[in-house]
Amino acid sequence: MRFEVSKVLDAIEARLTTDPAMARAVVDLSEVARYADLDGGRPASLLRLGLVIDALGRHVAEEEVPVYAVAPRALLSDADLTSNERMVVRRWADDGVVEVVPELEDRVLEVAELIGLPVLSRSRAEQFRDRRPWVDEPGRLLAAVPGAGGPVLVARVGRGEVPAVGEPSPMGAKLLARVWRCPESNCSNFGGGDSDSPFADMRKLTSPVAQPPPTLKAGVPTCPRHGTRLSDAGPRPAVEVLSVRIDDVIRRRFVVSADKPVVVGRAPEGGDGVMLGQWLSDDARKWISRGHARFALDGEDLTVQDVSTNGTGIRPGGSDDDDERITLDRDEVRKLDEDDVVELYAGVNVGRARLWATGGVSQPTSVMAEAPTMAIRKFER
Ligand SMILES: [Zn+2]
Repeated sequence: MRFEVSKVLDAIEARLTTDPAMARAVVDLSEVARYADLDGGRPASLLRLGLVIDALGRHVAEEEVPVYAVAPRALLSDADLTSNERMVVRRWADDGVVEVVPELEDRVLEVAELIGLPVLSRSRAEQFRDRRPWVDEPGRLLAAVPGAGGPVLVARVGRGEVPAVGEPSPMGAKLLARVWRCPESNCSNFGGGDSDSPFADMRKLTSPVAQPPPTLKAGVPTCPRHGTRLSDAGPRPAVEVLSVRIDDVIRRRFVVSADKPVVVGRAPEGGDGVMLGQWLSDDARKWISRGHARFALDGEDLTVQDVSTNGTGIRPGGSDDDDERITLDRDEVRKLDEDDVVELYAGVNVGRARLWATGGVSQPTSVMAEAPTMAIRKFER
């Protein structure tokens, strides 16, 4: 049983991020862990985060949806979790995949506001509504409640619209335009404080382009974990979030930054690329090269380069008209306009993530798939 629990926790971990470009919602891990009505189990369980992540995936109809989880430090020693769960939360905190803060206060809402994400919470918003009035906007506050086919998200206001993602507040846009440095030597999110340390290379550091938003203390950008004042380490490289859409289904999102071009194909070499093989039909798999198209940021311009055997197409403005389709020559680089869609094969597309609001997946892959039975209480000690 223990083995299966750890596999579920690994699946959950793969969906945790503090990268503002990738996160789709913000949760308070200490709150979600106590939703005992979702499974009728013990007072606190980390696995409930998996149930809520699955509910979000169904809500936005998308595969591999990541969440930004914040937890108060007290959760690391919460006696209602198993010792294994406490150890896992500690590891997540050390690796920077979960943000652990001394006191939660309204950090969950602050993150949501700065990045422009919905909050998944039953109660958190009430306490701070006067300061964060946007929680009353449609779709911004969603609560996970028990449903027939697993937990569902219900909106506090509106009918559960899928909110626009990635519209930071003006302050968020300012903060996310810079790279920040924490003076603490063990800061995984704002690291680099003591690059002379012999252990500096051993730390798992968040890339500057994926840093979470600082917290504001009396208007000063501050490390959410250490409470220390952050220093400004210069402009943050631009990023662009792209989606892979196959037969009208969003399969995954990925980030292209100025320092990190991304190759998309059947099975790109090197491990950094976006692998499509598992989602392709036999014909598409034969047509699409292992590495097929390379996406890069050149200044502000998003470009695509054909690196395939059979060629890459561009549909200007997403046009369905085959006469307008542009075919790139091998190695040709072309700038992508806002609405341009890259076509690797008929129905296999890559474009800016904001082109496609929702995902079209009726039953996203569950992070709970490795759980031995439907009921979580079954695999408690
Ligand atoms: Zn720090």
